[in-house]
Amino acid sequence: MKKNTQYQISNLIRPDITRMEAYTPVQPFEVLSKRLGRRPEEIIKLDANENPYGPSPRVLEALSRFPWYHVYPDPQQNALRIALSDYVGVPTDYILPGHGADELLDYLCRLFLTPNDAIINCPPTFGMYSFDARLSGARVIDVWRDEHFQLDVEGIERAVAEAETPPKLLFLTTPNNPDGGLISHATLRRLLQLPLLVVVDEAYIEFAEGEGSVAAWVPDTPNLVVLRTFSKWAGLAGLRLGYGVFPLEIMQHLWKFKQPYNVNVAATVAGLASLQDLPLLRERIAALKTERDRLIAELGQIPYLRPLPSQANFALCRVEGQSAVRLHHKLAERGILVRYYDKPGLRNFIRISAGRPEDTVALLHVLRSFR
Ligand SMILES: *Cc1c(COP(=O)(O)O)cnc(C)c1O
Repeated sequence: MKKNTQYQISNLIRPDITRMEAYTPVQPFEVLSKRLGRRPEEIIKLDANENPYGPSPRVLEALSRFPWYHVYPDPQQNALRIALSDYVGVPTDYILPGHGADELLDYLCRLFLTPNDAIINCPPTFGMYSFDARLSGARVIDVWRDEHFQLDVEGIERAVAEAETPPKLLFLTTPNNPDGGLISHATLRRLLQLPLLVVVDEAYIEFAEGEGSVAAWVPDTPNLVVLRTFSKWAGLAGLRLGYGVFPLEIMQHLWKFKQPYNVNVAATVAGLASLQDLPLLRERIAALKTERDRLIAELGQIPYLRPLPSQANFALCRVEGQSAVRLHHKLAERGILVRYYDKPGLRNFIRISAGRPEDTVALLHVLRSFR
């Protein structure tokens, strides 16, 4: 009887979801720490592009002083949106905070995609675009980057022209994760001519030199969305706070669509306090950029590593003459966590986040001992 009921219930679940493969979650930090037999503070965590300096001290102070955790958040997030408007240089009406930029990616996919719709994805890149699109039942058209991780602009244009169902969304990441390369403004302008919504993910833009953010284009560009986050530059990854800059036409529907209390009070308090401590946070960004550049220069001296140039807070390295997976495990045994890849387009790579100077010293010491 019991068994039979369960069988029927699973038949009621959307068949595209029951067919989906489960994904492997990242190991919680405490679990890893136990497994490696090291205290969390002895682990050098360079695998998820987190900010090793953590939140600004003003954030910690504001969080401990805040008296209203028992009261629901403002569904419109007005205080935060006003502060963000100042930071981004775009009027408040265009800005929507989210439970991480990830939540806004999910909203976009569910707002635009029904089964049989399609998106364009440009791998190797951040995994959430194809993940969220597939959750909506949409088809993912991959237009691969070249071996230098450059976009195939003509390939994207061709894919749009030739697709049976016209793709609705194009996801672009600048700086791109995992390589840290930028997309030029000229290329973005060209791709904005396409008849679809262009979503530009600027999760790492605070670490980039060059032409900068395109968020200010949004009010004059009806098919552009820009996503940003506090996870990396402001050290708030665990609190989950991102935001998007959306054309008003899309905002209008997002207001109907979003969960009223999607952004919690602690994330809001932390975001506001971060925006009030920009000089300190900018010093830390500068320190991480210096460390990234030093890391890339030093990794280039290691015979089995070929680091790529990066405008983000991490460096991607091709591993030559040995296995990236084994290298990852050997580093983990010594308490240093990096990300490895061994899949199409990313055969035998490691990605290392920029850390504190002492983290770089420890990492290089171990890497040099492996030659
Ligand atoms: C880390 C990351 C995000 C996630 O941002 P959250 O605000 O933490 O959800 C989005 N896009 C890219 C490319 C990232 O690397």
